[in-house]
Amino acid sequence: MATLEIRDLHVSVEAENGPREILKGVDLTVKQGETHAIMGPNGSGKSTLAYSLAGHPKYTVTGGSVLLDGEDVLEMSVDERAKAGVFLAMQYPVEVPGVSVSNFLRTAATAVRGEAPKLRLWVKEVKEAMAALQMDPAFAERNVNEGFSGGEKKRHEILQLELLKPKIAILDETDSGLDVDALRIVSEGINRVRSTGEVGTLLVTHYTRILRYIKPDYVHVFAGGRIVESGGAELADKLENEGYEAYVKGGASE
Ligand code: ADP
Ligand code: MG
Ligand code: MG
Repeated sequence: MATLEIRDLHVSVEAENGPREILKGVDLTVKQGETHAIMGPNGSGKSTLAYSLAGHPKYTVTGGSVLLDGEDVLEMSVDERAKAGVFLAMQYPVEVPGVSVSNFLRTAATAVRGEAPKLRLWVKEVKEAMAALQMDPAFAERNVNEGFSGGEKKRHEILQLELLKPKIAILDETDSGLDVDALRIVSEGINRVRSTGEVGTLLVTHYTRILRYIKPDYVHVFAGGRIVESGGAELADKLENEGYEAYVKGGASE
């Protein structure tokens, strides 16, 4: 079972008036098969954590460690991280001119698997995964992210998740901007991947509504650049009722 271990992670971004520390000592262990919800107020650093784990160049790690089965993730390039099994849904939020969804996914799968999937099997795999997400087959021929609606972007993320089968999946605000039907379909996709028991999921979200569909094993409250409380699924219910005020006013945030 793969284990991602984040220890005392400190991360800064380059702001106008010099470096600014956003992550202030994050400790978290995620094992394959587990689902962790990271919940917190806007601006608390949740996306910074997600991007840092994926190796986004904008974020500078100034302290701490991230290990995947003892291997130093922070030393790995973005591609090496993907190959090692760390998946960030927003990894490719940009438009990729002239590259169809179908080709993009095959290239990504080739990078992760170390060899190109056999074309006929691949086409079948993509078709089935798209059908499960109730996506129009024509979507496969569209250019990546070009004119995608919010909902299409999210489905494309979950499609990647289903096809790339990572060990650790980081889903940042997968629920934002989805209507109820799309939220259900996307959640079912995440649950399908989860039910294999082979992915550890970090579900980053501001809102509790996706947790009606996906029951996390652990809930962590993120405030002021670190985890300030951890619990089971019941912690999400508490947050739904009481919000984040207690954590922010308590001085946990800056
Ligand atoms: P969340 O995802 O929890 O809403 P973010 O990780 O996006 O939080 O942002 C955390 C904090 O880092 C915010 O206060 C944000 O303004 C700040 N931040 C992010 N990127 C930059 C940047 N390039 N320069 C300055 N501040 C930044
Ligand atoms: Mg520290
Ligand atoms: Mg965010």
